[in-house]
Amino acid sequence: MRLVRSTDEVVAAVQQAVDQGKRISVRSSGHCYEDFVHHPDVQMIVDMSGMSAVYHDERRGAVAVESGATNLRTYQTLYPEWGAVVPTGFCYSVTIGGHVSGGAWGPLCRLHGLVVDHLYAVEVVVVDARGKARAVVTTREADDPRRDLWWAHTGGGGGNFGIVTRYWFRSPDATGRDPGALLPKPPAELLVSAVGWAWSELSRQEFGQLARNYAEWHVAHRGPDDPHRALISQLVFNHSGLSMSSRVRCLYSASRWLSGKPDRMNEDLYSARSVQLTSYGGRINAVDPAATAAPHRDAAFKMLWQVFWNDPADDDRYLSWARDCYREVYADTGGVPVPNEVTDGCYVNYPDIDLGDPRFNTSSTPWHTLYYKDNYPRLQRVKAKWDPHNVFRHSQSVRPPAG
Ligand SMILES: Cc1cc2nc3c(=O)[nH]c(=O)nc-3n(C[C@H](O)[C@H](O)[C@H](O)COP(=O)(O)OP(=O)(O)OC[C@H]3O[C@@H](n4cnc5c(N)ncnc54)[C@H](O)[C@@H]3O)c2cc1C
Repeated sequence: MRLVRSTDEVVAAVQQAVDQGKRISVRSSGHCYEDFVHHPDVQMIVDMSGMSAVYHDERRGAVAVESGATNLRTYQTLYPEWGAVVPTGFCYSVTIGGHVSGGAWGPLCRLHGLVVDHLYAVEVVVVDARGKARAVVTTREADDPRRDLWWAHTGGGGGNFGIVTRYWFRSPDATGRDPGALLPKPPAELLVSAVGWAWSELSRQEFGQLARNYAEWHVAHRGPDDPHRALISQLVFNHSGLSMSSRVRCLYSASRWLSGKPDRMNEDLYSARSVQLTSYGGRINAVDPAATAAPHRDAAFKMLWQVFWNDPADDDRYLSWARDCYREVYADTGGVPVPNEVTDGCYVNYPDIDLGDPRFNTSSTPWHTLYYKDNYPRLQRVKAKWDPHNVFRHSQSVRPPAG
């Protein structure tokens, strides 16, 4: 593990790994669901937790957030300092480093879009064709010759192109240099309403109706100008025996709609360990799918299938549950939520190596299409240009173009 505190230290660490032929990975807070950071083949992990500053960069006219800053730190600096917000995720301890590069969505996404919709610039330590490590800054400015590298960090996923040391945020429609006017304002008040039902109080029919109501509302209100886009809700189905613990398996799909197979879907949700449906759409859907690398710009809500357990001896049992349930729900499309009129693929920040395994993905849609849809070939070209030696790689990293 190599703890770094500055961009220069990241450059030095990467150079050392390249010179010594060591396989390298980067970790900001380690929330990754797969082994992309902690893989047995990795010989040096660059730990970004020592770079966690959040500050106004007057020269760039943007707010800078270093990779090791958590969502909580970001919220807790932006709001009291400048009355501003970037719409990051639900989990306070997730760090910006890996989170933002995958697109990043959270409770304010229907109002303000994805985090990357406010990304102005990014500083990345890359390795060139001569094997030399260096830091480059790339912006969304149309005339920036490095703009393709900025684009790749708007949903291309972490661990693919280099090590991000900091991001700069400024909304596309922001004017002037006043830090209080660079980013969205958070809502003045938040009304929370929570309702719970015991399974014993809910028939299968009522359960089905509940899930259908949720889906229908979100489909009807997924448009970018929907007057109810400030509303966000989570419908969580917990198995009665669920307890939080250290081992977790999560699968994700972006759903446009539950129709076509609602009975099967509802049957599986009814018996699930935990399935979360969370609002999506709104301003997320105002952005063209190719404008950023995050392609899911028509979905209504997200579905997260998860199971937690403590004892490694139970791995097979719980993994089988998750796999069987997922495969059954998406049986009509080869066991995965292929992009079509019902489902819209998978979220790269909730990676799932099963998507690339022919035992579990029997569709003709490869894992990279599930994550990136039509944006994958462009990501491959960025990969070839900015990481020609494939220094930054993991089991589902963007591959250089064939040939
Ligand atoms: C409890 C929990 C709640 C979550 N909630 C949300 C949510 O509300 N919204 C949402 O969008 N996502 C959510 N996520 C997913 C989260 O966005 C991803 O797990 C994200 O990758 C975590 O970022 P990290 O900085 O911890 O990355 P890590 O786990 O450290 O790394 C993840 C990947 O990114 C790479 N990476 C990390 N840092 C860098 C860097 N500085 N430069 C380049 N590559 C890097 C790693 O190599 C790895 O491939 C949640 C995850 C968990 C576990």
